[in-house]
Amino acid sequence: MTYQVLARKWRPRSFETLVGQDHVVRALSHALEQKRLHHAYLFTGTRGVGKTTISRILAKSLNCETGLTAHPCGQCAACTEIDAGRFVDYVEMDAASNRSVDDMAALLEKAAYAPARGRYKVYMIDEVHMLTGHAFNAMLKTLEEPPEHVKFILATTDPQKIPVTVLSRCLQFNLKQMPPDAIVRHLSGVLDAEGVEYEPAALRPIAKGAAGSMRDALSLLDQAIAHGAGRLVEQDVLDMLGTVGDEHLYLILDALLAGDGAALMTLTAQMRARSVDFDQALRELAVLLHRVAVAQMVPDAITDELEQARLAPYAAGMDAESVQLAYQIAVQGCNDLPLAPDEVTGFSMTLLRLLAFRPVTPPALSAAPRGQSAALQAPPRVARTSAAVPPPAAVEAPRQTESAPPPVAAKPAPVPPPVPEPVRPAAKAAPADEAPPPWAEDEEFVAPTAAPEPAPIPATAAPTAALPRTNEDWHALVDQLDVAALSKQLAHQCEWRASEGGVIRLRLSRDMSHLIASGQDKLRAALQTRLGSAVRLEFEQGEPVSQTVAQRLGAEQRARLEQACVSMKNDPFVQQVIEQFGARLIEDSIKPV
Ligand SMILES: [Zn+2]
Repeated sequence: MTYQVLARKWRPRSFETLVGQDHVVRALSHALEQKRLHHAYLFTGTRGVGKTTISRILAKSLNCETGLTAHPCGQCAACTEIDAGRFVDYVEMDAASNRSVDDMAALLEKAAYAPARGRYKVYMIDEVHMLTGHAFNAMLKTLEEPPEHVKFILATTDPQKIPVTVLSRCLQFNLKQMPPDAIVRHLSGVLDAEGVEYEPAALRPIAKGAAGSMRDALSLLDQAIAHGAGRLVEQDVLDMLGTVGDEHLYLILDALLAGDGAALMTLTAQMRARSVDFDQALRELAVLLHRVAVAQMVPDAITDELEQARLAPYAAGMDAESVQLAYQIAVQGCNDLPLAPDEVTGFSMTLLRLLAFRPVTPPALSAAPRGQSAALQAPPRVARTSAAVPPPAAVEAPRQTESAPPPVAAKPAPVPPPVPEPVRPAAKAAPADEAPPPWAEDEEFVAPTAAPEPAPIPATAAPTAALPRTNEDWHALVDQLDVAALSKQLAHQCEWRASEGGVIRLRLSRDMSHLIASGQDKLRAALQTRLGSAVRLEFEQGEPVSQTVAQRLGAEQRARLEQACVSMKNDPFVQQVIEQFGARLIEDSIKPV
């Protein structure tokens, strides 16, 4: 038995088996059932979406020996001959190779005669936009006054090139591209029916490679089966397609979630070794982050179970805001790539930026979510046995093995019943979104190094009154600013150097200079709003000499923490617990409120 290619074998032979073009099927079925037939149809759409297939099914519907029907029998002579491509009254013509007026004249001449076998002569003209102007004119006459027994089916990938006079005489249907999900479903159905073993994950790259064309998808599937010697394995498919799949994208997300910068660098090196297109990779990363956001917000919109399962840990492991920010960074990374010294640098810089703004990590102080103290978020750590003790603070009973003092649960009585509110440190609560960035406490950052002298400012320059005159002014100004994310980080990382006319000169360390591109426009806009006058920002690179806002906030945070520790140690209730149960204060768990 000769092997029949899947695209041929699995070409739909009825409207019921046609995938993805429901709107067309419905309209044509109704027309057939109600016998309200138009004499010319135009199918538009990219290659491989089913134009010829629908044309053949329509031809069978019109000529099936069981009568005019939306469900041709597929058994009668007319049906089988149309399927086999040898029915005399069904003519498929490729306008790309028969485009002259003579070809058209010959076709139309035959159209004048009654059908030999069927009810209708059906002419299918593919790539009809390729016809010459004369050929169109010749056709137009027949389209204006068509013989009763003639049906035209025109198909094109480029309807713009069809004269309006022709368009207006056709009933037009726009065939849609197949969504990848539909292709994957169809392919798995085909493989099941063919009894071919396959990894479900192997179908997605095929669907992607087919770019909306079911015919291409089936052709690729044929190739892949041959390539994999009768089995379908994802890696074989990726090799065959010459693509790298999306495993590296998930690995990038894994590394980001783990805060593993080394892994990111290794991945970049591996991708470079495999000659991955970094621009494409960033785009795909953005697409993946979009899918994660969809999985978080509209989980039902992801119909592919495999994809659902794949996305689930990331949808759960990242908060929605982080996903949004990461998406922005990935998209911005695509835009910045042409400006980068080279692709690898641009790509890895984007990964490092993602790392710098990665989802919050619980142990860090800066992890306190906006608007809440971390103490309210995470319940204080208390030994499991002390369930009877109202847990006011971070107190841990000694381990059972440490003998001497009895375990808490065994002796709940002495605990004073009226539990006072845990003593709150006196320090004023930090404004919600002033949590210092993760690097705020970096010692290196504080270290003042010899910074280049800023350009001298002419003494004659008349300063605008509202402009900051000192670094302290700058701090006060920044504290009042209403800016978000990157712009706020930029303001926090800058040291004020000088104000001159409408120019504010700022210094920030080289490590932070990426913030300029992403944050300066919004920062400038916010400053202008605040100052009520036009402002220009000038940046110089170098380690800040005096304190930046970020450093100040970090120091304030540390001071609050110290104070919280002191208050906690002095708290009578805490002291009592320590004395009676040999409990130990875990200072790391104390969060200033
Ligand atoms: Zn039939």
